[in-house]
Amino acid sequence: MFDKILIANRGEIAVRIIRACKELGIRTVAVYSKGDTDCLHVQLADEAICIGEAPSKESYLKIDRIISAAEVGDVEAIHPGYGFLAENAHFAEVCEGCNIKFIGPSSAAIKAMGDKIAARETMRKAGVPVVPGSDGPVDSEEDALKVARKIGYPVVVKAASGGGGRGMRVAHNDPSLVTGYHMARAEAERAFGNSTVYIEKYIENPRHIEFQILADRKGNVVHLGERDCSLQRRHQKLLEESPSPALTNALRKKMGKAAIKAAEAVKYVNAGTVEFLLNPDGGFYFIEMNTRVQVEHPVTEEVTGIDIVEEQLRIASGEELGYDQKDIQFTKSAIECRINAEDPFNGFQSSPGRIEFLHVPGGHGVRVDTHAYGGYTIPPYYDSLVAKLICYGRDRRTAMDRMSRALDEFIVRGIKTTLPLHQLILKDPNFRRGRYTTSFIDRLLISRQPLVSGAKE
Ligand code: ADP
Repeated sequence: MFDKILIANRGEIAVRIIRACKELGIRTVAVYSKGDTDCLHVQLADEAICIGEAPSKESYLKIDRIISAAEVGDVEAIHPGYGFLAENAHFAEVCEGCNIKFIGPSSAAIKAMGDKIAARETMRKAGVPVVPGSDGPVDSEEDALKVARKIGYPVVVKAASGGGGRGMRVAHNDPSLVTGYHMARAEAERAFGNSTVYIEKYIENPRHIEFQILADRKGNVVHLGERDCSLQRRHQKLLEESPSPALTNALRKKMGKAAIKAAEAVKYVNAGTVEFLLNPDGGFYFIEMNTRVQVEHPVTEEVTGIDIVEEQLRIASGEELGYDQKDIQFTKSAIECRINAEDPFNGFQSSPGRIEFLHVPGGHGVRVDTHAYGGYTIPPYYDSLVAKLICYGRDRRTAMDRMSRALDEFIVRGIKTTLPLHQLILKDPNFRRGRYTTSFIDRLLISRQPLVSGAKE
């Protein structure tokens, strides 16, 4: 096992990784920007090195500064967390070249999955079902229209290097496709510096079901079950749960096998997530693989009792898994609510600022992963996640009741958060019955809107 590692990240995930390291006796070096001097990960790590100005382009995305910090800190490995450089194949390559272990898959696997068009092709060849769509990139309006006529509307234009729901436009007819094509390209160029787009059939009312994978260097691959991440806003997840109320054991087995096949197709090592869309008719399609730890990994940890970050560290240091699929037990039901600094009733406008008062819930079956504390200021430069509230119990009903209770206990004063939206979700009869798809949150918010005064029924 490593003696000392650097964490190339900030906020709650840096805190999460530091905690795993402490339990394993690994010393930690934190990096931070000038906007993060008060951030908890800086306090909790054994050492902390400032790597630049607050905007992430001048700090957390600066490969040379992070490598210099790794040299100064004399570490053996770097954990990238999620976001920032976590899925940057070049960064993984630089680490490999500097003899610093990258705690994640090989740069080749990141590359293979990072380009979504190439990933679709790899999956198709490996026999994993993909959403019907264009064979490769779509380079012109004419090309886009041709593909749409072939597969039929609705379609979705997606960025080849997409992430975070950006560079994605749904089209229901020719004119909206032409507009959507140009908008998706422009957004992809702005967000990822790459305007390449492709087209997929837009699956209506699907569920987002993803499988957590662990793989070691010897080629052992297991899955830790699924997470249902269908509750989204703007194609970004808000609430996740496991097991999914939509999966039968037979379907779970089938999808789990497909997920393992996907990982094996790119000789995947370390923790990763294979994402699928599930059709109301039971058909499922690969959409992408995330080659890093996910925000929602605690859900799986509480269901299986496996510490995913610890497994990442063990695998990267060369240990074998030491168990196989049949050893993995799914003993609990777990739900995660993302508490973001956003106003859910005003277009999810971000609401950074000072937290005047914070009280986090506790008690049996409640876990809170956060870097926030009373008096802490959520900086405007990074993502808006304030805390992850995870509740678990012997079955879904217990997890839901516990979540409702914990949400009522959670107090964040000074900023707007997604807490009231989660309270609404947990009270919704369809959610309680496990009946929801990716359009659930939009519908819930629309149903809350008061009728415009003077409007006729
Ligand atoms: P990103 O990498 O930006 O997160 P994904 O490909 O993972 O993009 O898709 C994010 C979300 O967008 C999915 O969970 C789903 O809700 C929606 N989505 C993506 N592709 C499709 C599709 N072909 N049909 C319907 N919804 C889709």
